[in-house]
Amino acid sequence: MRVLLVEDERNLSAAICKLLEKERMTVDPVYTGTDGLDWALSSEYDAIILDVMLPGMDGFSVLRELRKEKISTPVLMLTARASLEDRLTGLDSGADYYLPKPFESAELVSCLHAITRRGNRTPIMTLSYGDICLEQKDAKLRNTESGAEIKLGAKEYQLMELFLRNPAQILTKETMQDKVWGLESDAEYNNLEVYVSFLRKKLSFIGSRMKIRATRGLGYSLEEET
Ligand code: CA
Repeated sequence: MRVLLVEDERNLSAAICKLLEKERMTVDPVYTGTDGLDWALSSEYDAIILDVMLPGMDGFSVLRELRKEKISTPVLMLTARASLEDRLTGLDSGADYYLPKPFESAELVSCLHAITRRGNRTPIMTLSYGDICLEQKDAKLRNTESGAEIKLGAKEYQLMELFLRNPAQILTKETMQDKVWGLESDAEYNNLEVYVSFLRKKLSFIGSRMKIRATRGLGYSLEEET
């Protein structure tokens, strides 16, 4: 297995190289975003490990360029910025997995194996709460009790992910708007209401007991119907 490692921290890069070589992988380390893009475009890799904060070009931009060029090599994003917003940006720009620093060696190795496994990929990330779970792999919302499932659109997915990461907590409209729409200028305020209503319909479609509750003047929360 051949891996491109784009990481500017020399010590960390050296440690990862050593670790992966022990796993009998071939690693090409580069230290800037621009080199990372160059190498990824000119060579075949089984996986790319990509840091976010990089000199030259940040990891998200590298990834977006790669996907634009139809390079579908699995990408593992590596970053100290473990905020949800970053993680969502990572998934949005086409990352296969997002591993926050610091991480365990075993975790990195198993992530690499998971994202490079051909064909029958194991679910990379599943979030669950109450009787529902959300699969990153196919963006499906499933009722874990009945097995009923439904596919979510990109924004619905991000919104549901936000709810599942903060279950039974009121999320303000501003937070949701920020996390899901970010700086997209065309995001109308009432988009949020629209997507919340889509999610409600989908929750009821799969027969879930979970409800998205509106608290006037505050925001929304995902709660189990009592
Ligand atoms: Ca860095």
